[in-house]
Amino acid sequence: MPVVSREVCLVARPHGVPDEDLFELAEVTIPDPEEGQVLIRNAFLSVDPYMRGRMNDMRSYVAPYALGEAMTGGAVGRVVESRNERWPEGSWVVHQLGWREWALSDGHALLPVDPSLAPVSTALGVLGMPGFTGWYGLTELGQPAEGETVFVSGAAGAVGSVAGQVARLLGCRVIGSAGSPEKLAWLREIGFDEAFSYRERPVHESLREVAPDGIDIYYDNVGGDHLEAAISSMNKYGRIVACGAISRYNDTEPAPGPRNLFMLFTKRLTARGFIISDHWDRIGDFLTVMGPWVAEGKVAYRETVVDGIDHAPRAFLGLLAGENIGKMLVKVGPDE
Ligand code: NDP
Repeated sequence: MPVVSREVCLVARPHGVPDEDLFELAEVTIPDPEEGQVLIRNAFLSVDPYMRGRMNDMRSYVAPYALGEAMTGGAVGRVVESRNERWPEGSWVVHQLGWREWALSDGHALLPVDPSLAPVSTALGVLGMPGFTGWYGLTELGQPAEGETVFVSGAAGAVGSVAGQVARLLGCRVIGSAGSPEKLAWLREIGFDEAFSYRERPVHESLREVAPDGIDIYYDNVGGDHLEAAISSMNKYGRIVACGAISRYNDTEPAPGPRNLFMLFTKRLTARGFIISDHWDRIGDFLTVMGPWVAEGKVAYRETVVDGIDHAPRAFLGLLAGENIGKMLVKVGPDE
């Protein structure tokens, strides 16, 4: 039987900080699956910082969102009707069809989810793309050695909380920055050696105070003043993992770069950027390591869950404003 599904469409492009007027809720009828297709009932949608870049009418590393169409992105759901033997009815999958209650997929670009390992929501967070990003960026680009000092910005978010905890498990001293006392308390609880708020004092002052002997790795989720402060505090041969720059995503004009970039050569630093989708061949390695760490409680995670598809825009705007601890999700259907 065809189903009626609600979805959230982008209807205008933001200038600066986005607001709810840019989105509209639409109702669509989804036909029965044809040969090769599967019908998925979504449980959770992911809202992610990269979506802000795709709302602009400008290609970044992926094409912009089309106006009038549903926002695409990560979601986890259950196959309820299948005409594709690879994905039987009842199986849980992650897909990229985004902000909708139901999704009709041609069976490509689906990832299997094992609901016996952890709650299915984790397939969008600690055991999904953000966790993979934190693990891959820290270990491959950061190359941490035991005893080194690692600074992670955006540390209480989905990516940062994983990067920091992995650094700790590898024997590093870990410092995190975040935007609220509740976030700092959580960072200390999960093993960060130091945590400071970037809202109370200039980042470079706090960083110097908690890392008087300097830092060896900077995992950058924020850019701007955090990056400049990290470069100043970096030890010789330090590594900068350029993962994101969320402090800049709402800029309407390009901001000047760090004023101390010359330190890249005086301190013999390495800065490397990456986009995790280029490294999807390593997802199996990631799950082999992270699955047991999560199951044994060695890596803790939190989720901030907003209820209902109609509140997806609010969740996304809340993510940019720092309202999430850990992974920001939208619950849109049954999760078991
Ligand atoms: P988070 O869960 O970290 O959520 C975003 C957080 O950013 C907010 O909670 C907020 O926390 C913080 N933030 C917002 N504005 C500012 C600001 N002006 N200054 C400092 N912090 C700010 O998101 P993710 O973990 O999903 O993503 C983290 C970063 O990783 C982003 O930059 C993202 O673009 C990047 N990323 C990169 C990928 C890649 O392939 N390279 C893949 C996935 C993510 P607070 O309260 O602390 O301000």
